[in-house]
Amino acid sequence: MKLNVESFNLDHRDVSAPYIRVADVKRLGEGAVLTKYDVRFCQPNREHLEMDAVHSIEHMFAEFSRNHAPNVVDFSPMGCQTGFYLMLAGEPDVPATAALVETTFRDILAATAVPAANEVQCGWGAHHSLKGAQDAVTAMLAKRSAWEQVMAPGAPSADDAGARLAPETAASENATGASGVGEGAAS
Ligand SMILES: [Zn+2]
Repeated sequence: MKLNVESFNLDHRDVSAPYIRVADVKRLGEGAVLTKYDVRFCQPNREHLEMDAVHSIEHMFAEFSRNHAPNVVDFSPMGCQTGFYLMLAGEPDVPATAALVETTFRDILAATAVPAANEVQCGWGAHHSLKGAQDAVTAMLAKRSAWEQVMAPGAPSADDAGARLAPETAASENATGASGVGEGAAS
């Protein structure tokens, strides 16, 4: 049975992290559109980020990405600590979004302190690791050329991202995977 959350219908055993992918395109009416990206750092159920590194990546990406893009709506951690959700206004394609992520990651590597890591501006100001964040970003940047490859080669759904879904939903959803720019993800 298809679940409401798009990624709950993704077989996490078949993906090959790191990657970025369109998880959802939400049409709000009157031409307004939001695109939700997964920015996956870690292979699901095999590895995860430490929470203080997650927290620092969240702060830095949220702050630095807005220097480059006026359409950043939100950047939030996945509860499984394997990646983040990046919400953008409009429908930026995967290459443009990957470029924004890469540029922001390079800002993170150049940072000498985590912004707003204090008790005035954060709910747990002591809970940060600049080094942990930079190590995670370094590892993800090392695989930059593979970011647009979402499904593992040879995975059952590698050739057709829709094949893993129930038959009645596959036809309308099969553009949301490795090559998806969101054409089929409208909901
Ligand atoms: Zn915080």
